[in-house]
Amino acid sequence: MKLHEYEAKEIFKEYGIPVPKSFLLKKGEIKDIDGDVVLKAQVLVGGRGKAGGIIFANKDNFKEKVEELFNKEIKGEKVEKILVEEKLPIKKEYYLAITIDRLSKKPVIIFSTEGGVDIEEFPDEKIVKYYVDIKKPFLPYIGREIAKDMNVDVRIGDIIYKLYKIFKDLDATLVEINPLVITENNQIYAADAVIILDDDANFRHNYKKFEDYKEVKPYSYVELDGDIAVIGNGAGLTLATMDLIYNLGKKPACFLDVGGGANREVIKDALRTVLKNKNVKGIFINILGGITKCDEVAKGIVEILKENPNIKFVVRLTGTNEEEGWKILEENNIPYFLDMQEAGKKIVKLVE
Ligand code: GDP
Ligand code: MN
Repeated sequence: MKLHEYEAKEIFKEYGIPVPKSFLLKKGEIKDIDGDVVLKAQVLVGGRGKAGGIIFANKDNFKEKVEELFNKEIKGEKVEKILVEEKLPIKKEYYLAITIDRLSKKPVIIFSTEGGVDIEEFPDEKIVKYYVDIKKPFLPYIGREIAKDMNVDVRIGDIIYKLYKIFKDLDATLVEINPLVITENNQIYAADAVIILDDDANFRHNYKKFEDYKEVKPYSYVELDGDIAVIGNGAGLTLATMDLIYNLGKKPACFLDVGGGANREVIKDALRTVLKNKNVKGIFINILGGITKCDEVAKGIVEILKENPNIKFVVRLTGTNEEEGWKILEENNIPYFLDMQEAGKKIVKLVE
């Protein structure tokens, strides 16, 4: 997940990396300003500046410029938020990033004295790389030594240290400052900020608080244009169930593979997802339990049916813990099938 610039800069601030003074405007909001500012569209596209997403404004034309930017689409993305920043008098732009180098399997610090433009456009000889030994603690002096090696301001060494801390603390796959600027009055700022987080590390963090967080569903779901929802475990069985529906002259409303080892919560979530599709007239649940346990599946089905007593559905349930699963279904007067052909015929009849 890529963070918005304003979110990344909040994190920079927490870690003591200097960022320009700023405030955020949501669509429809306006404020008074004085002095010169930069308006920065908060869209998650690369090359935002070149695509018209960065414009300069002053106190006289501020409102018009804000409106102009809100009415733009940047590479197809609508502008919902603008970060308004004090305009810096830039003297020098650098590039600084930390990512993982797959070949050496180490974090790599990438620095260039030619910041501002896309990294792809830098001449190779203008890029320096430092590979991090993760077995040793990354102490402040390491940042300072890198800066000394590169013959740049020691404050950049301090920023390298803090940026590495963010990279590590947040489980980022990329942290980037482009440009890192020195101003006419010799101050240093992260003028731009990119943080990409590793979605697989979400369990260690609280990525939910970020704007673009999307829950990764533990199943695969593809909506289709028929009216019988197909839920199976394993892509092969789910596809075979869809074929069965086609062969019986009907069309599936979806492909939903709950995957291996789905517990009752996953089954419930899958059923809720399917029920949101207004075209669905009936549901075919086809489970051949291996690492998926039939009793867990049955418990999930029972709970959803209590919430939605009128849905038309069939369950084919067999495999691991089938006896326990059948018992749960029987106790709740839910019929089930062992044979998927028969289950298919039944659901087709029910929706006709
Ligand atoms: P990007 O296109 O998404 O990478 O957006 P950036 O935030 O990096 O801005 C693009 C370019 O706009 C920078 O490389 C700068 O040259 C310029 N820019 C951004 N902020 C300022 C500023 O405060 N002052 C000046 N003079 N230029 C700026
Ligand atoms: Mn940039």
